[in-house]
Amino acid sequence: MTREFSTPMMRQYMEIKQEHEDCLLFFRLGDFYELFLDDAKIGAKVLDITLTRRPRGKDGEIPMAGVPHHAADGYIAKLVKAGHKVALCEQITEPTGKGIVERAVVRIITPGSILDEKSLSKKDNNYTFALSIGEKSIGIAVADVSTGDFQTTELAYGDELRPILENELIRFTPSECIISTGEYSNRELVSFLKLQRHMNIYPFAEWDDHAEDAKKLLKDHFAISSLKTFGIDGYKEAQKACGALLGYLRHTQKDRIGHFKVVKWYTPDEFVELDRSTIMNLELFSTIRERDEYGSFVSAIDKTVTAMGGRLLKEWIRKPLTRGEEMEERLDAVENLLQVSAAREKVKKELKSMYDVERILSRLSVGVGTPADLLNLKYTLERMLGVKRITEKMGSDLIQKLATSIHPDAVGIYKIIAKYIREEATVDARHGGVIKDGIDPELDAIRAETAGNREWMSAFEKEERAKTGINSLKVKFNKVFGYYIEVTKTNVDLVPDHYIRKQTMVNGERYITPELKDYEARILKAEEKIHAREYELFLELVDLVLKEMLLLQEASKSIASLDCLISFTELAEEFHYARPVIQSEGELSITSGRHPVVEILNGGNFVPNDALLNDVEHSLLVITGPNMAGKSVFMRQTALIVLMAHIGMFIPAESANIPIIDKLFVRSGAADSVSSGLSTFMLEMVETAHILNNATEKSLVIMDEIGRGTTTYDGISIAWSVAEYLIQKVGSKTLFATHYHELQKLEDEYPNRVTNYRMAVDESGAEPVFIHRIEKGRAESSYAVVVARRAGVPEEVTTNAEVVLLHLRRTPTTEMSTVVAGSKDLSHLEDKEESNQGLVNELLALDINAMTPVDALAELSNLQKKLGKNNQGRVISYDALTDVTEEES
Ligand code: ADP
Repeated sequence: MTREFSTPMMRQYMEIKQEHEDCLLFFRLGDFYELFLDDAKIGAKVLDITLTRRPRGKDGEIPMAGVPHHAADGYIAKLVKAGHKVALCEQITEPTGKGIVERAVVRIITPGSILDEKSLSKKDNNYTFALSIGEKSIGIAVADVSTGDFQTTELAYGDELRPILENELIRFTPSECIISTGEYSNRELVSFLKLQRHMNIYPFAEWDDHAEDAKKLLKDHFAISSLKTFGIDGYKEAQKACGALLGYLRHTQKDRIGHFKVVKWYTPDEFVELDRSTIMNLELFSTIRERDEYGSFVSAIDKTVTAMGGRLLKEWIRKPLTRGEEMEERLDAVENLLQVSAAREKVKKELKSMYDVERILSRLSVGVGTPADLLNLKYTLERMLGVKRITEKMGSDLIQKLATSIHPDAVGIYKIIAKYIREEATVDARHGGVIKDGIDPELDAIRAETAGNREWMSAFEKEERAKTGINSLKVKFNKVFGYYIEVTKTNVDLVPDHYIRKQTMVNGERYITPELKDYEARILKAEEKIHAREYELFLELVDLVLKEMLLLQEASKSIASLDCLISFTELAEEFHYARPVIQSEGELSITSGRHPVVEILNGGNFVPNDALLNDVEHSLLVITGPNMAGKSVFMRQTALIVLMAHIGMFIPAESANIPIIDKLFVRSGAADSVSSGLSTFMLEMVETAHILNNATEKSLVIMDEIGRGTTTYDGISIAWSVAEYLIQKVGSKTLFATHYHELQKLEDEYPNRVTNYRMAVDESGAEPVFIHRIEKGRAESSYAVVVARRAGVPEEVTTNAEVVLLHLRRTPTTEMSTVVAGSKDLSHLEDKEESNQGLVNELLALDINAMTPVDALAELSNLQKKLGKNNQGRVISYDALTDVTEEES
């Protein structure tokens, strides 16, 4: 939208706009931010504000729309939420009356870099994700501008780029993803990335330059001499992603990114692998149906009281540990905290009143911090020292480490803040009232001057009263007129001629005099000087705080960790959780396990169940039973208990032995994803393939109702083969729930690997009752009609269903009897396979080129007959087809 303008301001506008073409330019004009031209049209539409047109002399009409600067945050948030980037262009020099003021973009606000508190969820990180795709590996870098967190990794990919990438995307759930302009033209990649909910994808024009220059950029920014410091020296793609991301952050934050202090290198195998469908199916962060946090695992178990703790808890859940010592450290800490409840309460009290230091530090670093931020920081740091004093006396190694990381010198900076900042400081550092008296001689001197002004003003008032004889005469101030003299109606006759009337009020008149205005100018000038000096001192203080950034961030992380550990402790105490016994390998056994979420939501009403998985006859449990009997709950509680142990949490069970696992897979036939562009069955198969290709003998695999999105026999065959593959090739510990009772035959086939379990049904009364208890054995009935009746399906339908069921049971079709027979004795399947091979050979021997279509159909019909297909039914018979052909010919 290049357009030539003649006015200097519009020329300035165009110049800046051209450098920020991908952004909506918020152009500061006095007390407003104005949007011009196409930006104005977009802004007016998204923000529902008036679009005006300014006739600009020679420049013709210019569409414009504006928002008041003091309310800009809300408008910006709305635009960003709609996927726009906003470039904030400020006046950077004071108006002098001559020429136009200088303007520059001070910050670009994007979904990943928004800092407005109302737009950010307190207990969630807000990541920007940078992706570099190499020939064999991908580099990933993520940064949270609101907290200063910066992480990176590099992952090799074979044919599986998509699942690998998906796992990392779900790990961080970024709100923004940047890629090179080259990658942005890869439609397949972009449409895959677009499947991520709430993630905006932007090409970064300067990607290549920054990626090329990554080493230098990283070394300069983090002030390190070698990339070995962060362990990223050998990883080209990771470096590229880091370099590009750092360049992008510099661009959006206009170089104010001092709060990114370290690059954390991670590798996914440090954590139990949780793929997307596992996270969804376990409802770790939101429920499947409502996509609501309420009802999710995290919402049920989160007892953290700080935003920092809430965010870290989610990170811990996303990154379950695989090192036994680290799990034990956290478990020791919880055990310790359980014993010292009085001290724990004290710590909790301090935590409760803390502000979000990570975000305060980030705001200060980016240049949008306020005096209120400093006051809240001061208050919180003081509390942190209190926490340090209590926790350093506790016995657990981890808690001691955390207490040590609250560095007293860094945290002690609160004393300087207290010395400088007035308790009643305003939120805007530029409007004065921020700095205490007696701190800065220069400030004190200017303030003394204005004190003299106040005296002058009251002397002036007295004098005017005496001169005019109006005793009620008052000198007042307001923003519109500045200083003025107010005289009540009854006294206006006494007003001298040299008073200049400014305003008529109901009860009186307001005047000014040249003498008063002269003095006013002096006062305002002095005030301006005060504000400027206060602002200078404020910035100096912010700099002082920012020097301690690293240590303050570490202290905040300690606080967050303590918050999580106390949260685990309270949960354990309230719901009588037990400490799991962690082993590097061996049997997984849970005594009286409960589902942490169902138990809490059911108000403690829960039927506990034992679970046993090993690498002999309990490698794979085939679980059958009616709908609503508790199969899913049982399997998920087993997964969650194992997960909780790996997070270092106590668990909802009487006791448990938990071997360390490498991956957890939870696949459910119930979840579907319309938006992925895959049908339910296809998605199920993609996920199944991922499990079969990736699970190991150290993995826990939960398969809930696999093979349901297709016909019964296809489903059974697939479910059977998947189970066999897991038993024979993978060797994972597997819970396999199914409605296909045929699969119970797996126990006969693999007595040393498979055990059948079923959900118990109490049939002693008139109606069967599902008692949610799991027991060894085979289910006989699925009670589907019973469940349908309970759900309120009309009686006519359920009765009819019973009749149909009876009929089907009495007259099984050929295929059904084959499968049932086959499942009883698998050698039948093998025989069938052999005879099928004969047919395949016959099929291969056909010379299609030498056949007429009619011959081909005849041959097909022949083959079908050999397979036992009855052609009188839905398949059009060969005879019928020849009739048609003859008629047509
Ligand atoms: P299935 O997978 O067999 O169809 P679910 O596992 O979904 O059944 O369980 C159905 C409902 O039964 C759950 O929503 C829960 O309310 C209840 N339930 C399941 N297991 C238990 C249990 N052990 N104790 C109490 N209620 C349970």
